[in-house]
Amino acid sequence: MKVFIEPIGRLINEFTKLPGVGAKTAQRYAYKIINMSSAEVSEFAEALVRAKSEVHYCKICGNFTDGDVCDVCKTRDKSVICVVKEPKDVIAMEKIHEYNGVYHVLHGTISPMDNVGPNDIKIKELLSRISEGGVEEVIMATNPDVEGEATAMYISSLIKPLGVKVTRLAHGIPIGSDLEYTDEMTLARALADRKTI
Ligand SMILES: [Zn+2]
Repeated sequence: MKVFIEPIGRLINEFTKLPGVGAKTAQRYAYKIINMSSAEVSEFAEALVRAKSEVHYCKICGNFTDGDVCDVCKTRDKSVICVVKEPKDVIAMEKIHEYNGVYHVLHGTISPMDNVGPNDIKIKELLSRISEGGVEEVIMATNPDVEGEATAMYISSLIKPLGVKVTRLAHGIPIGSDLEYTDEMTLARALADRKTI
């Protein structure tokens, strides 16, 4: 005999697909759903489906948006581009409230071990943005790990010949850590103390 009836077992299985959700937590979530009203469950399910269908990448910077172009690209200083690995890194930078430029999301970092080369991330798109002119500084804000450093160096070698200043977030962000988990004070200081590379 199975422990859970099929619909509950299936729901638990879906929840375990989420990061940080183990069997026990998935079970708690599943029972919580069962105890909600039908209206609440519909709202919950609709939020999932809507988020997936309405959220896509900004055609300029690659960050998440529900329009064509994100609000950051529409309203901010386009002379400075901060290059990050993933959309969640934009959130980390935005939380420090010290940055008024725009972003470029690479959607990965160069990693030969994982078969990710320069053509597998959004480097071409960055270069074409720069070639349109008006960019004075590119801040490399990839994570301070091996892939992040290698990617920053590679991209800077492509940008510097174009006459654009390239900077790197200062150290102080623990080596091997993620921007996402760096506290706001440290990240603000790393931004303020960024060095030309
Ligand atoms: Zn954008």
